Amino acid sequence: MHLVIIGNGIAGVSCAQTVRRLRPEARITLVSAESAYHFSRPALMYLYMGHLRWPDVLPFEAWYWRENRLELVHDRATRLDAAARTVHLAAGPPLAYDALLLATGARTQYYDWPGQHLRGVQGLVSKADVELMADLTRDVREAVVVGGGLIGVEMAEMLRTRGLGVTLLVRDRHYWGSVLPPEEAALVDAQLRRHGVRVQYGTELAEVLGDASGRVRAVRTSGGQELPCQWLGVATGVVPNVGLTADTGIETDRGILVDEYLRTSVPGIFAAGDCAQRRSPPPGEAAIEPLWYTGRMQGETVAHTICGQPTAYQRGPWFNSAKFFDLEYQTYGQVPARPADGEASFWWQHPTAALGLRLHYRADASRALLGVNALGLRLRHDVCDQWLRRAAPVPEVLAQLGAANFDPEFFAQHEPAIVAAYNAGHPDEPAVVLRRRRGLLGRLLSV
Ligand SMILES: Cc1cc2nc3c(=O)[nH]c(=O)nc-3n(C[C@H](O)[C@H](O)[C@H](O)COP(=O)(O)OP(=O)(O)OC[C@H]3O[C@@H](n4cnc5c(N)ncnc54)[C@H](O)[C@@H]3O)c2cc1C
Repeated sequence: MHLVIIGNGIAGVSCAQTVRRLRPEARITLVSAESAYHFSRPALMYLYMGHLRWPDVLPFEAWYWRENRLELVHDRATRLDAAARTVHLAAGPPLAYDALLLATGARTQYYDWPGQHLRGVQGLVSKADVELMADLTRDVREAVVVGGGLIGVEMAEMLRTRGLGVTLLVRDRHYWGSVLPPEEAALVDAQLRRHGVRVQYGTELAEVLGDASGRVRAVRTSGGQELPCQWLGVATGVVPNVGLTADTGIETDRGILVDEYLRTSVPGIFAAGDCAQRRSPPPGEAAIEPLWYTGRMQGETVAHTICGQPTAYQRGPWFNSAKFFDLEYQTYGQVPARPADGEASFWWQHPTAALGLRLHYRADASRALLGVNALGLRLRHDVCDQWLRRAAPVPEVLAQLGAANFDPEFFAQHEPAIVAAYNAGHPDEPAVVLRRRRGLLGRLLSV
């Protein structure tokens, strides 16, 4: 079998590694236009900030690919001939395949703003983007970033480390209003302001204004305000790369449509990662999941199907983590911005420090846990995942908080305060008693 994979991101590489394990004799070719070797996309920001160099973001050295007989082709796939089972490349000879995985990722979403093609306007997805950003922000004093999601804050942090003035335009009334409840948003907002980011809520980009040389000189907002800037970061989401599917019979919507086995509508062609859109995701799950760990899961899952072991993609409870400057954020399961009917939410916040914990649960007698948000506190993924899978009652979760505690010395001091706050807010329920943590001796004896 010759498996050709377009895209050497986490989805493509995870598939290649799993197929190599399942089918040692298979020929596997990875094609990528972006870089000769797989790299960590979430680490791109650290290149700009000077914390890492290019070799530091490569998870595997050159020998790894040779030793595992993974053929790397640094070239652009220009056309698919599904009938002839062939991929055409920009420079090299065509590649014939038995199975083809499209793991082509995503690119910056633009919204047809007047002036968006001016020099100095860009997104942040690729290696080329971060290099361009380093070049175009070199002699810049003022930057604007449009879009208040995770990438928008990353851009703001990158720019602030180089001393640029940054204005962040956020459409919602509070930070990431479609995702975060107001209390979490307020903690992030305080963090942004502490780091000198000027945030304008309820504000959209209306137009980009250029100078005589064709470079951005200002933006006009939806409120009619003109903000001078020499660089504009676009962080309004990403769109799946579906270009290769043209005239192939592969069905697309926003992304490349796949069934639960990550099969496209054309036999022998699969899709995974940021470019894939599930036709019928389970309730509460998104059809497109542009995340690192879901890319890895999809790559590993589709490998089994490619190797003749059909395996449905089952993500399990949602998980995401990020850092807003110094503030760590983790979310598990479902925590909506506003509780729906039949749901309730317990929020604890430290009186002075940037620390918060939310437990979201069913408001009925089960008190079943639906989701967790943690800010400034790091929880253990395995413990939260198990709580969510078995819908643990919130009083039980609180009693066992220590088990989820990733930083025992740090977080332990807050556990009694969190439990006390819950008990004070729920006087009609039996009081939760924090289960005693094992001391060092107990932990050593249990090993
Ligand atoms: C700045 C940034 C920070 C992020 N931080 C996080 C984070 O903290 N946590 C998290 O979970 N997620 C994060 N993400 C998202 C995460 O990186 C992506 O979801 C993930 O990398 C997608 O992997 P993928 O394999 O689907 O696609 P990609 O990694 O995008 O790989 C696709 C590859 O295919 C190549 N390609 C496309 N078309 C062709 C073609 N025709 N020919 C040849 N090659 C082609 C592309 O150039 C690209 O190299 C971040 C993303 C960005 C941009």
